[in-house]
Amino acid sequence: MATNLTNTPLLKLRHVQQIYASGSKRFTAVQDVNLTIFEGEFVALLGPSGCGKSTLLRIITGLQKPSEGNVLYRDQPLHGVNPHATIVFQTFALFPWLTVFENVDLALKARNIPAEVRTPRAIDLIDRVGLDGFETAYPRELSGGMRQKVGFARAMAVEPELLCLDEPFSALDVLSAESLRGELMELWTSGSIPTKAILMVSHNIEEAVFMADRIVVMDKEPGRIIAEVKVELPHPRQRKSDEFQKVVDEVYGMLAGQTESEAVELGSAPGEQGHTRALPQIAISDLAGLLEYLAELPTDRQDIYRLPEELNVDPNHIFSLTEAAEILGFAYVEKGDIILTSLGETFAEASIQARKEIFATRIRRLPLFRWLTTLLSHSENRALDWDVIQTALELEFPKEEAEKQLDTLINWGRYAELLSYNDDRELVYLETPVSQSTPS
Ligand code: ADP
Repeated sequence: MATNLTNTPLLKLRHVQQIYASGSKRFTAVQDVNLTIFEGEFVALLGPSGCGKSTLLRIITGLQKPSEGNVLYRDQPLHGVNPHATIVFQTFALFPWLTVFENVDLALKARNIPAEVRTPRAIDLIDRVGLDGFETAYPRELSGGMRQKVGFARAMAVEPELLCLDEPFSALDVLSAESLRGELMELWTSGSIPTKAILMVSHNIEEAVFMADRIVVMDKEPGRIIAEVKVELPHPRQRKSDEFQKVVDEVYGMLAGQTESEAVELGSAPGEQGHTRALPQIAISDLAGLLEYLAELPTDRQDIYRLPEELNVDPNHIFSLTEAAEILGFAYVEKGDIILTSLGETFAEASIQARKEIFATRIRRLPLFRWLTTLLSHSENRALDWDVIQTALELEFPKEEAEKQLDTLINWGRYAELLSYNDDRELVYLETPVSQSTPS
């Protein structure tokens, strides 16, 4: 089902700038942001921590006035808190001493809605988010996913025209997050909630492509919009479809920095003309450690030659890690410095599952990896003997190197949940991802 996109602007940000002052220093958190959200539109804001996403949400909902620029709601300048907008946070603060019903009812009471309207509306909302039967339960009796549903019901109780979501699924386990996303999309696309537009802040690229009509990509220092991608796929979206992956790749490309990542020579696949590039032998935990270290530094670049001493790691290992980070689009090297891309920062900040998804998308584009998955997908039971793959790789690499390459391919593929390996039978399998089926 498609959403009901219109050309009627609901919210406009015009040349919005936010400067924070700390002591005598002035710091531009958001620079010249121009953004229009239309009725019927689901917009996702994507970008590394500190690029000003929360600041923008506060400005949009009127909790904060920008240093410069204007906010127009239905073409009228916004003064004070926007009564038509609500935010759902990562973890929704429910009152533990109130039941599910009372928590939702409270939001309606706060808007002075009379009791005879409040009660049926609260019950209806609880029903719509799938919590029928839990009206009298207390928050402590609910799972994280259920509590977040109460949060959604409470946010929707006031029938906001603009629903702002601040990483609403990131604190949930994988399955709860996936089912809640599906349920929200069903409510939204079927038009059964009065919400006119949704703005969601996210760190999760696939989530943004799964849900949004438009993805606005931001970068930091200063916080600004660097690109926009329209997602014109019909709902419910099929995560494993080629069209879906194409959009995901496009967004990843933007976060990885178009020019730098393209400058990295990925090589060709075995059997093709050209040179098959060997993958660096690294453990993903070490790569994640390096990215986390770089993300936490106060500067955005670091001299590579100082890293071995700072991290107490062998210089050759640092070079392998740097090479892996470059191949994957997490960092680039310039004049002896390593610099994280927005994607690298996103990876460093992401949850375990989101990291796996980012990693999966990145290794799928490596020629050597693509070659192996194609080979497996054409094999019986989507599986092949280790020896068979090793023999094929020996046409490209010396025996010992072929073995190391296969080891790396399997380790990376297992981490990304794209491959599995049966040690007893020495069989390499292509995984069928759980997310292949779309939640209903
Ligand atoms: P994001 O939500 O993308 O992580 P934020 O909007 O929270 O970004 O922050 C953008 C930048 O502004 C960050 O560098 C942050 O430290 C800074 N910042 C946010 N709020 C304030 C504030 N009230 N005073 C000073 N600096 C702030």
